[in-house]
Amino acid sequence: MLNSKTGIITGSTSGIGSGIARALAQAGCNIVLHGSREQSQVEDVRSGLETEYGITARYYRSDMSKPDEIEKMILDAEKSFGSVDIIVNNAGIQHVAPVDQFPVEKWNAVLSINLTAAFHMIRIATPLMKKNGWGRIVNIASAHALVASPFKSAYVAAKHGLAGLTKTVALELAEQNITCNAVCPGYVKTPLVDGQIASQAKERGITEEEVVRDVLLGAQPTKKFTTVEDLGALVVFLCSEPAGNITGAILPADGGWTAH
Ligand code: NAD
Repeated sequence: MLNSKTGIITGSTSGIGSGIARALAQAGCNIVLHGSREQSQVEDVRSGLETEYGITARYYRSDMSKPDEIEKMILDAEKSFGSVDIIVNNAGIQHVAPVDQFPVEKWNAVLSINLTAAFHMIRIATPLMKKNGWGRIVNIASAHALVASPFKSAYVAAKHGLAGLTKTVALELAEQNITCNAVCPGYVKTPLVDGQIASQAKERGITEEEVVRDVLLGAQPTKKFTTVEDLGALVVFLCSEPAGNITGAILPADGGWTAH
């Protein structure tokens, strides 16, 4: 379905990004894996995608807080593959603290990785997409792009900002066959969330099952986690031809959380 396309998925050596990379590879897309790990640590995943799906996958290690590293990755990818057709802005970090105690450097880091990096990716990749008359931009936002939770001021501000960026870019590129959408997951069981389950159980003096049921899934009416496979399938659909008229959408994948 996406044969001959090339997709860059930021933060794709783990969690949601890794699931999205796998789903795009399965759909025939060449893949740029990206992260902050050593090449040797991701070689199995990279070569596994090539063997399993018959595509070409490359790995770039770059710091998403550094615009020159982002630019180098995108331009190198275009040189290697001949085009950059899909970008998935997935890399993200979190920090939790009351607003009056929020460390300034953490605020800056959360805004930089969750919002400004997506701006740079879009700024640098869209001229390449315009040249080819086709493009797909998918921003992995969060239910926190639509609603807030206490102590997550930077993350909520960044994800709301990402929703605004998504709509603006969609309007600017609407007549150029380039779509821009945001996917807004609720809780997804990634290593990041597994860590939270264990630490919350300890802090609250309750079992891990109670953390999952009452704390994490308390907000999600379906009482189910969204999975990385669900999100991979949604991204593949947004990159497909039938989704060509879906743009500027802020799509919850949150078990009904933001329907409240
Ligand atoms: P994760 O920690 O497994 O993945 C985050 C990725 O971002 C990692 O691969 C990491 O290497 C990369 N990254 C972070 N900072 C970086 C930097 N400075 N330079 C380069 N790479 C960097 O987390 P995840 O749960 O898979 O989250 C992926 C995205 O989904 C994030 O944007 C997150 O906000 C969003 N999200 C996650 C959930 C959830 O419940 N897990 C829910 C809603 C939204």
